[in-house]
Amino acid sequence: MAVQTALLFETPEQIYDRVFRTLRPRTPVPEIHVRFRKFANANSFIRLRDGKLDVKMCDVLEGAPAPILESLAFILIGKLFRREIPEVHAHQYRRFLNRADMRRQLEKVRQVRGRKFVSGPRGDHYDLEALFEDLNFRFFDGLMARPQLGWSRRPSRTLLGHYDPAHHAIVLSSILDRAAVPKLAVEYVLYHEMLHLKHPVDHRGSRRCVHTPEFKLSEKQFPGLAEAKKMLKLL
Ligand SMILES: [Zn+2]
Repeated sequence: MAVQTALLFETPEQIYDRVFRTLRPRTPVPEIHVRFRKFANANSFIRLRDGKLDVKMCDVLEGAPAPILESLAFILIGKLFRREIPEVHAHQYRRFLNRADMRRQLEKVRQVRGRKFVSGPRGDHYDLEALFEDLNFRFFDGLMARPQLGWSRRPSRTLLGHYDPAHHAIVLSSILDRAAVPKLAVEYVLYHEMLHLKHPVDHRGSRRCVHTPEFKLSEKQFPGLAEAKKMLKLL
C-alpha cells in the first residue's frame, strides 16, 4: 500500500509539478521550490527564473488541505503565464481564506507580524489625541472610544489616512504633520477615518475603503468639507 499512500499525500512540489504539466503541457517542467514564509498576510509569490520555479506562501497555508493548495497552484501558475484563472479555483481558494478560523488566524498573524507604529499621537505640529477629542466632542457627542492614533512612517501623498482594524488604530500620513498644512485639512482626514469606525463594513478578504451612502451623509456634516478637500489637493 506504500504506493497508494504516496499518491494520496502529494508534497506541495508535486502539486505544482502536476498543475504545471496541466497548464503548460509542452513546456519543460522547471525545478520547483515551494517555501512557507512568516508573512504578515496571505499573499503568495511565484517566480520563474533560470529554469527554477520559486513559490513562496504564508506559513498559515502550510496545513491547508491539498485541494486548496492545488487551487492556489492553478491561480499562481495561471497568473505567471497570464492565463485566465478557472473560477472554480479562484472561488475555492477565496472561500478557504474566508473561513472563520482562517480569518482569525490571519488577523492574529497580522497583529503580531504587521507593521508597528514608530510614533504615538503627538507629531511635530499636530497632536492627534487632542484633535480626536475635539472632533469627538463636536461630532460624536464625545461618545467614540479612542482608538490608537499614530503617524505613518512614510509621508504618503496617496494614502492620507487609514483605519487599521488589526491594531484598532487610525494612522494619518506624516505628510500632514507640517506647519504648512492647515488644521482644517488634518481634521478632515481624521474625521473621515473616525467615520470608518462609526460605519464599520464587513470587508470579506478585501481591504478596500468603503463609503456607504450613510457614510457620505455623515461626511457632509463636516463644515469646510470642500475647503479641506481643496487644501489636500495642494499637498
Ligand atoms: Zn475612506
